[in-house]
Amino acid sequence: MKLRKVTAASAVVLALTVTATACGSGNKNESGSSGGGNKIKIGIKYDQPGLGLKKPDGTFSGFDVDVATYVAKQLGYKPDQIQFVETKSADRENALARGDVKFIVATYSINDKRKQKVDFAGPYLLAHQDLLVKAKSDISKGTDLNGKKLCSVTGSTSAQNVHDTIAPKANLRQYSGYSECIAGLQSGAVDAVTTDDSILAGFASQDKYKGQFKLAGLKLSNENYGIGVKKGDTATVNKINAALEKMVSDGSWEAAVKKNFGPADYKNEPAPKIGQIVK
Ligand code: GLU
Repeated sequence: MKLRKVTAASAVVLALTVTATACGSGNKNESGSSGGGNKIKIGIKYDQPGLGLKKPDGTFSGFDVDVATYVAKQLGYKPDQIQFVETKSADRENALARGDVKFIVATYSINDKRKQKVDFAGPYLLAHQDLLVKAKSDISKGTDLNGKKLCSVTGSTSAQNVHDTIAPKANLRQYSGYSECIAGLQSGAVDAVTTDDSILAGFASQDKYKGQFKLAGLKLSNENYGIGVKKGDTATVNKINAALEKMVSDGSWEAAVKKNFGPADYKNEPAPKIGQIVK
């Protein structure tokens, strides 16, 4: 009886030792970091056609998705090692601070306020704030919005710019994603949607909306898209910048632009130079 107890106790100790050893060596392999069985988590948008879209079959498409996939490859991760995570406009800084994702490629404009909380690689695209209205609407400029129901997204530069400069007297509704604003425009709940022209063009070109909406074409701001990284992670910023430079020089950037913006007939700006912000 006594003997059996001792045996059982040593069996437990032995089991714990084996488990601890297994864990230790597993961790060592993972910290090798250049690929292997590792996964990388990347934040994208899920509801922005042409930029970041989760399709009904669970796959992803868009310019941001292609940029993210290219960058991840340069960092040593194959497409099947990428885990995309939805990062809505208002969640991006917190997602990086918490370490939920390694980086964010989600129509994320570089600005001084955000730079206090996160670091940015890039820019990798220059877009401009614009308005999307019903095809028959007579809204054609920013000041037409005063007194009108305007939709944008919480935590976006688009909503901030409306308050600050474009139309402080507009009746601004802030939703959590642009797809909700577009639904509101279609139903008549709002008179206009405002955000980057790149995003609005992607929605307007969807089969289900064909002929229903028009872009005002106003270039109300400069939106320099950066890749957000946790504050202080300079090593990752540098690696991403090198990857972005390569993406432009080997023609992959242009190919991704054609593939993703071509169907929306979006006239993009040329590839920005790394570190060069258009104010
Ligand atoms: N590019 C703007 C921003 O970073 C608007 C698009 C978005 O909300 O993602 O806020």
